[in-house]
Amino acid sequence: MGSGLAGLGYALKVADFARVRLITKRGLTDTSTSKAQGGIAAVLGADDKFEYHIKDTLTTGEGLSHPDIVELVVRQGPERIRELVEMGAHFDHGADNGYDLGREGGHSHRRIIHAHDMTGAEVERILAEKVLAHPNIQVFENHMGVDLITRQRLLRRGAVVADAEESCLGAYVLNTVTGEVDTFRAAITLLATGGVGKVYLYTSNPDIATGDGIAMAYRVGAWIGNMEFVQFHPTCLYHTAAKNFLISEALRGEGAKLLDGRGRAFMEKYHPLKDLAPRDTVARAIDLEMKKSGADCVYLDISHKDPDFVKTRFPNIYQECLKFGVDITIAPIPVVPAAHYMCGGVVTDAFGRTTIANLYAVGEVSMTGLHGANRLASNSLLEALVFSHQAAQAARETLPELQAKPFVPVPDWNPYGATDSEEAVVVSHNWDEIRRCMGNYVGIVRTDRRLLRAKHRIDLIQQEIQEYYWNFLITSDLLELRNIATVADLIVRMALRRKESRGLHYNLDYPQADDVSFHRDTIISSTGWH
Ligand SMILES: Cc1cc2nc3c(=O)[nH]c(=O)nc-3n(C[C@H](O)[C@H](O)[C@H](O)COP(=O)(O)OP(=O)(O)OC[C@H]3O[C@@H](n4cnc5c(N)ncnc54)[C@H](O)[C@@H]3O)c2cc1C
Repeated sequence: MGSGLAGLGYALKVADFARVRLITKRGLTDTSTSKAQGGIAAVLGADDKFEYHIKDTLTTGEGLSHPDIVELVVRQGPERIRELVEMGAHFDHGADNGYDLGREGGHSHRRIIHAHDMTGAEVERILAEKVLAHPNIQVFENHMGVDLITRQRLLRRGAVVADAEESCLGAYVLNTVTGEVDTFRAAITLLATGGVGKVYLYTSNPDIATGDGIAMAYRVGAWIGNMEFVQFHPTCLYHTAAKNFLISEALRGEGAKLLDGRGRAFMEKYHPLKDLAPRDTVARAIDLEMKKSGADCVYLDISHKDPDFVKTRFPNIYQECLKFGVDITIAPIPVVPAAHYMCGGVVTDAFGRTTIANLYAVGEVSMTGLHGANRLASNSLLEALVFSHQAAQAARETLPELQAKPFVPVPDWNPYGATDSEEAVVVSHNWDEIRRCMGNYVGIVRTDRRLLRAKHRIDLIQQEIQEYYWNFLITSDLLELRNIATVADLIVRMALRRKESRGLHYNLDYPQADDVSFHRDTIISSTGWH
């Protein structure tokens, strides 16, 4: 389920030994992957070492990254990149004919392989091309996962016997063109549904990022972890007409400086690495500068660099800003922080397996243990790349056994007499309220009071949705609303539980990290805390 790097990468590997039905809720390339600008982190430079990348990842994760997973991902990086290159992906080369490796915040060495500033689009292009040409892969665009089908769920409806172990049997899927809900059975179901940015009003994420996979997994009892760690990208273009346009961290890697409204650089006040400090530090610094001055934005300036270099290295950002009247070769760019990346998600092991048999999760939807309390820049595409490989390995091993098991009949979706809604306004109103509430109370800087206020609002909205959901025929808007409400609730509850500040979770009531009580993941399922 999902056609970003995680879903496409997994589908291609599994198609070597199985048939794949790949569903995706919009067009094939409507993904966060397509938007990724900076690149993919991997140890490729002559002066770099696995140990350095491992150390940088662990340092950024502030004690919550799982060292075994960090090691696994970092060590596989070069091999997985080589596979992409063999498929035909083009990455930029430098003067000595090696890769032109970029540097981003938190990295001690240059190790970001990139295709100009459109790395994700290049990766998505090549994978989509291969997927569409593969005889074992059937693509279903405009098909949206509604709910996972599990034995427990069928048991509740009396459709299976009670002695069976819990496992996933597939999903109910809404055809968003016809409005019908189809039953997709599968020996193995993979969630590759991406992130949750749309839970917040300001986000760098595309519209698909509504946390569907996390919400679906939570509803069937899978473990969900570390949702309090939401990464805010410090620099999204601030312009009334610009929707979610990100200004890559790679600009700061090439010398761009953050300035306040009076043109003064301010990052040296906050971190010794100044403009190359880790993202959360930069986002908090901007938040503070904006709160102090009352300004709507700060500025990112790269105009001191050679204009030809800027245009060649950042063609996409240059063109996009120009469309909004900002020539970045001569003027600073107005920027604000925006929700960018979810470090938490569906808990998995080193092979992408969730706590429910035959249900896998890979990519931003998952919590593998790589990122811990904070994500190191450009480690997310790397994670999706490595884990799609890992999950395919596990699928190859277990599939013969699964295929030998007796067939379990699955009933069709039952709308239980729901009717067409004439009140779509309820959906759009609640969407808006959740996103504003999360932005106002569950943003970069939190307090218990703000979190409790958010919890109260979200509880009410959830009650309303529950009523609405069962009375009316489902639409993609209603499903997404239900999912963002679930995700918002998980973020708030986990943030309230972590009574400390660590990584991306910053609570003014507990400004220090507390290693005695909170040096651990926050994990919940529908039956309670774990
Ligand atoms: C603007 C931007 C820039 C970024 N830059 C970088 C970068 O430089 N380096 C880096 O490492 N990371 C970067 N990231 C993060 C990275 O792009 C993502 O974490 C990564 O692409 C996620 O890949 P994915 O395959 O897990 O999900 P996505 O690429 O988001 O794909 C999710 C897929 O799931 C589908 N889907 C969702 N819900 C459903 C449903 N209910 N039913 C069916 N299909 C569904 C979507 O339609 C989509 O096809 C960036 C992110 C953004 C938004």
